[in-house]
Amino acid sequence: MTLRAVDPDIARSLQQELDRQREGLEMIPSENFVSPAVLEALGSVATNKYAEGVPGKRYYGGCRFIDEIENLAITRAKELFKAEHANVQPLSGAPANLAAYTALLKPGDTVLGMDLSHGGHLTHGHPATFPANIFRFVGYKTTPDGAIDYANLRNLALAHKPKLILMGYSAYTRDIDYARVKRIADEIGAYTMADIAHIAGLIAAGEMANPVPLFDIVTTTTHKTLRGPRGGMILCKAVHAKAVDKAVFPGLQGGPHENVIAAKAVAFKEALDPSFKEYARQIKKNAKVLEEELRARGHRLVHGGTENHLLLVDVTAKGATGKEAQNALDAAGITVNKNAIPDDPRGPMDPSGIRLGTPALTTRGMKEEEMKQIAGWIDEAIAAKDDATRLAAIKEDVKKLTSRFPLYDGLAY
Ligand SMILES: *Cc1c(COP(=O)(O)O)cnc(C)c1O
Repeated sequence: MTLRAVDPDIARSLQQELDRQREGLEMIPSENFVSPAVLEALGSVATNKYAEGVPGKRYYGGCRFIDEIENLAITRAKELFKAEHANVQPLSGAPANLAAYTALLKPGDTVLGMDLSHGGHLTHGHPATFPANIFRFVGYKTTPDGAIDYANLRNLALAHKPKLILMGYSAYTRDIDYARVKRIADEIGAYTMADIAHIAGLIAAGEMANPVPLFDIVTTTTHKTLRGPRGGMILCKAVHAKAVDKAVFPGLQGGPHENVIAAKAVAFKEALDPSFKEYARQIKKNAKVLEEELRARGHRLVHGGTENHLLLVDVTAKGATGKEAQNALDAAGITVNKNAIPDDPRGPMDPSGIRLGTPALTTRGMKEEEMKQIAGWIDEAIAAKDDATRLAAIKEDVKKLTSRFPLYDGLAY
């Protein structure tokens, strides 16, 4: 029986979500569109299998083919990032980070990570998260011109003697000097960790610096620029392999989601293909064009512009709030998210900025010419935030554009 026959309610919502993805401009920088092959692996019979443990050392019988799948995912991940060890079981980015902390730290240890309003992620010490109750988080900042403040980082490292220095971000637009951070960590005998959730695809393609050969431990999601299924992964030095594997299972998780691991393996194969380098280059080119076009229209780019796939725009400079801009763009068929800017004077529910990115649009095949068009619409929509008629008109134009870039052709629920 088909999904539609068994559960027409879910089928209808899925079809509407597919239509939404097809008709809109997806500009949330953490989102992407997986290939049909990844989608097929994700919906495969591997979801039926329990496989607690690691390949070759399972607590269940019948794992022969599942071991083949997980081993391929591991081998490809190691090749992609030049890693000594890979654990592909973390269910997502947040659990991967918790597992990394568990592998390296004891309760009460100090972690020096990026201040959240300067671009760090919730899992890097936000008071509302579980790890924040267990470890002590200290935050370094960025300079007014948008660079990571390495002098501030070093001063904090010397003052607080963290056990772990954590690099990585979800709302920052520049690359990281990992060698410089490693030297600071070595001064105080701290471990080094990078959370590359947003930029893993750009790193795999050689378009951004790779911390894996240098750092103790690197965590990532697999569903952002890496364009795989929703999931997480940990890469580390061989000396940490045992601690990492134990932290994931039995430390934090039970049976791994082997259908997701199969889909990760497929995505890694796609990322190893030369065409993925071209994709990553285009993501960056598209972001740069958006930046130039928005700047030309008087928008204030935070962190001094972009070196990756994302832009942070302070919309208060245009008389809007982050929430107003997000809602206006939503009405115009452009999906972004509101986001805090460094030391944001406004609260998290209605911050000063919006965050936008190019990975999903680039997957659809859009290039510089489309980015120019889209920058114009973004500018118009923010200016017309109270004009429902104008926003609806932009939405129609957006629909015309997206219809020229088919998504999941032939798929229907
Ligand atoms: C997205 C992200 C995460 C969390 O990933 P989830 O899969 O949503 O749990 C962790 N760290 C960074 C830097 C991220 O950008």
